[in-house]
Amino acid sequence: MAFRAPSHLLLLLLRRLGGPCRGLASEEPREALPVIRIPQPLQLRREARARGGSAPRVSVPRPGPLLIAARRPEFSQPLRLTVGRWERAPLASRGWKHRRSRGDHFSIERTHRQVPALPVEAGAVEEKAVAEEQHEERGAGPAFAALGLQPRVLDALHQAAPAVVRPTWVQRRAIPPLLRGRHLLCAAETGSGKTLSYLLPLLQRLLRRPRLTTGPAPRGLVLVPSRELSEQVRAVAGSLGQGLELCVREIGGGRGMGSVKQQLSLEPLADLLVATPGALWKALKRQLVSLEQLCFLVLDEADTLLDESFLELVEYILGKSPIAENLEELEDPFNPRAQLVLVGATFPEGVGELLSKVTDLGNLTTVTSPRLHCVMPHVRQKFLRLKGSEKVTELIQALKLRGEDNPGSSGAILVFCNSSSTVNWLGYILDDHKIPHLRLQGQMPAAMRAGIFQSFQNGTKDILLCTDIASRGLDSTRVELVINYDFPPTLQDYIHRAGRVGRVGSEVLGSVLSFVTHRWDVDLVQKIELAARRRRSLPGIKAFVKEPLPPIELTPDLDRDTENVGISN
Ligand code: ADP
Ligand code: MG
Repeated sequence: MAFRAPSHLLLLLLRRLGGPCRGLASEEPREALPVIRIPQPLQLRREARARGGSAPRVSVPRPGPLLIAARRPEFSQPLRLTVGRWERAPLASRGWKHRRSRGDHFSIERTHRQVPALPVEAGAVEEKAVAEEQHEERGAGPAFAALGLQPRVLDALHQAAPAVVRPTWVQRRAIPPLLRGRHLLCAAETGSGKTLSYLLPLLQRLLRRPRLTTGPAPRGLVLVPSRELSEQVRAVAGSLGQGLELCVREIGGGRGMGSVKQQLSLEPLADLLVATPGALWKALKRQLVSLEQLCFLVLDEADTLLDESFLELVEYILGKSPIAENLEELEDPFNPRAQLVLVGATFPEGVGELLSKVTDLGNLTTVTSPRLHCVMPHVRQKFLRLKGSEKVTELIQALKLRGEDNPGSSGAILVFCNSSSTVNWLGYILDDHKIPHLRLQGQMPAAMRAGIFQSFQNGTKDILLCTDIASRGLDSTRVELVINYDFPPTLQDYIHRAGRVGRVGSEVLGSVLSFVTHRWDVDLVQKIELAARRRRSLPGIKAFVKEPLPPIELTPDLDRDTENVGISN
């Protein structure tokens, strides 16, 4: 007979065991947990809308001037804000590697109306130097005469460039040490007047140095990386030289050795020679010229000249030049030695290493602008994310729009491409659209290349299609717009290209328009955007010598104290 437990005993036993039996034990209704099917913020917004509330708000910055103006307003940055050094910045270009970002754009707005202007906040740059600069930009700085330039040189300057009245920041810093015979490294932004800052003091020193030999042996040498730049420097030096009775000659590559030989042997012989490394190297090899009489040697656009493509030639030239090791060597009338000057707007990290091969870095006095490698605050810089095939249409549109925005302006435009073939190809397209233009690229025959930049400067045509050969040093105050049809391969190239607008003496402040198509372009754009938002210098191209220049003593005739000043810093 089967044992049957009473039902109340069974229930009691199950209750003691607990756990899963509870449900069995009690049938009371339990509160059901909510099942989440959509994200809570979305749910809340739906509920708000159902209640008749307004649509979700986009965080639009308060009205007012902007530092960054983005197509998506949430990425705009008001002028009054600066992103902290370690703060994460909301970049408008963050998603630009994705093809769906095509059509997006942002611009770094113009925040200063002066040329050259100052960053609103210096960030990493020395506050004291910026304050000094602000003081001087207001016209409170010394005049050229107070820097130690003689009346004869000042007259020559007045005749050559009547518009140049007050020295720029870099001229105030570079002229006095150069007059004292120091070796100098001058790193200052594009268009800040570096050419005059070395020509004026060096020509003045040349006046005191007699010519010792009769053959072609210039007493001053300026090396530049392109023949267009050598023509430009020759023009500036030549007009100064006229007033000082100094003969300036120029040798650039591509015109054949006959022309080089002629320039070097023409009477009167050159006191100052402006040359490209290739042409001078050939002339030295053939013993058409001697550098033994050099009183100074300038490397203008020194970072490019010390780049691998030129380094061998430049090292050879430096080897042939009698660079002074101390002041006594400079002043020796029977065995004159040369003063070394390096000038540039970008000095990439590592250039110091290269320089140490040619001179003792300890002997260099340095002038470093507080704005060096900063995004130019007086030039509007727009970045447009595009598909490669859309670039031509955008370009044509931008070229046709020129002048419409600024009626009465010159409307001169520089269009930069990364290769000579793109310049040619784009040239044919502009021809089809009947847009008059000039082309300048390195693979052109020399005869074609000669004078192209000059005719652009003179206003023969308003559009110049070019490669980076036009980005280094070339001066035109007419340029209003730089278009990076191809985004530049490095940040240095970006700085140099952008530096063709907003120069000292420019008619208008100008702007830069960059087409961004490749993933590697986006990396550079993000660096530029971040530097602009943080108001810091661009990364990777820091000035390698950071010590500020010792305070300048302004005396009426600085040449007097040269006997007592050592060449070392
Ligand atoms: P950088 O070599 O620094 O790029 P440049 O020497 O080519 O600049 O000079 C840029 C422009 O500024 C030139 O057109 C030059 O005539 C002009 N300039 C130079 N110094 C002064 C000055 N003190 N006042 C006015 N304009 C100047
Ligand atoms: Mg220059």
